[in-house]
Amino acid sequence: MSARLLLLPGDGIGPEVVAEAERVLAALRDRFGLEVEWSEGLIGGAAIDAEGDPLPASTLEAARVADATLLGAVGGPKWEAIERSIRPERGLLRIRSELGLYANLRPAMLFKELAGASSLRPELVAGLDILIVRELTGGIYFGQPRGIRQGEPHPDGRPGGQRVGFNTLVYSEFEIERIARSAFEAARKRDKRVCSVDKANVLECSELWREVVTRVAADYPDCELSHMYVDNAAMQLVRAPKQFDVIVTGNLFGDVLSDIAAMLTGSIGMLPSASVNEKAQGLYEPVHGSAPDIAGQDKANPLAAILSLAMLLRHSLDRGDLADRVEAAVAGVLADGLRTGDLAGEGGTPVGTRAMGEAVVARLGN
Ligand code: NAD
Repeated sequence: MSARLLLLPGDGIGPEVVAEAERVLAALRDRFGLEVEWSEGLIGGAAIDAEGDPLPASTLEAARVADATLLGAVGGPKWEAIERSIRPERGLLRIRSELGLYANLRPAMLFKELAGASSLRPELVAGLDILIVRELTGGIYFGQPRGIRQGEPHPDGRPGGQRVGFNTLVYSEFEIERIARSAFEAARKRDKRVCSVDKANVLECSELWREVVTRVAADYPDCELSHMYVDNAAMQLVRAPKQFDVIVTGNLFGDVLSDIAAMLTGSIGMLPSASVNEKAQGLYEPVHGSAPDIAGQDKANPLAAILSLAMLLRHSLDRGDLADRVEAAVAGVLADGLRTGDLAGEGGTPVGTRAMGEAVVARLGN
């Protein structure tokens, strides 16, 4: 049976970069027999303009029945003045929560041709390929109780009459187990090494995290598990990032670590991401936004969107072979010296969005 995909181009450069990913998708169907069909939907500002809602019911329904969704980006100055609850970004938050996308996969991959773009020395990062698996729907961002209230006088001498702010870090065994499984499943498609990052020397919640991840590891004897405290992990990511394969961690730690890892690669136009649920249904999207400053000018780098499509093939369609092919084609065009403006640096003549997409298609082979 054909896989069913939903494309949500969105706003700004979203439609431009998704069009290039679609070109790659069509080539995979025509040349390699990928059985796939797709349709397009509205999200973000484009959906507000057409239907007055950043996530119309028809879009949500289409995403629910699709095997996977590929999104461009949402938002832009045009919609900044409208009320917060119906802004473009709300569409994105809602689709993530409606589909129960609890596992956020953020690769930090650095093609060796771009090693000069990193803030670290090229030899530390050339060929970097790590995957951060971040729990996305639990942890301290969602725990109860939360708030700001009038504080009591405290035995440690803190004066009364002051306000206190508080959030609660909660993880259930179920939540830890399913994110651990996502990490091991992803590791099986890679170098089979999982590093679980926590703060088990201080937090009881992390103690449970460590215990459950260790238990789940027994079901994956082909994979190696290690544990690391988050402070050390932050340090190791900038000291020797290539030691990692898959990092699995909670929502807050993952938020910070994935941004550190992203910066190691130096370029926002190259970074894909995925958020998936237990049915391996996923939302795949570039990390970058709608880039209103370059929208409509054929300047956007489409590689993050194309690499998001590669993730979709690997994680939702189980076509790691085609994902490898797409990633190799991207490496190929970079080796050929093609650069969009964001990667060109001084001197070189940048190629446009469309030319970059066409070059990737040409590099896919037959
Ligand atoms: P941005 O990522 O859109 O742009 C930041 C800078 O990076 C800009 O100079 C832009 O030109 C450049 N850039 C981004 N992607 C690029 C690409 N593919 N090729 C070349 N250059 C690229 O972030 P921003 O400017 O903070 O936000 C712009 C809008 O996008 C805002 O409305 C914001 O809310 C929205 N946004 C959406 C998402 C999303 O849809 N997931 C994420 C972040 C921001």
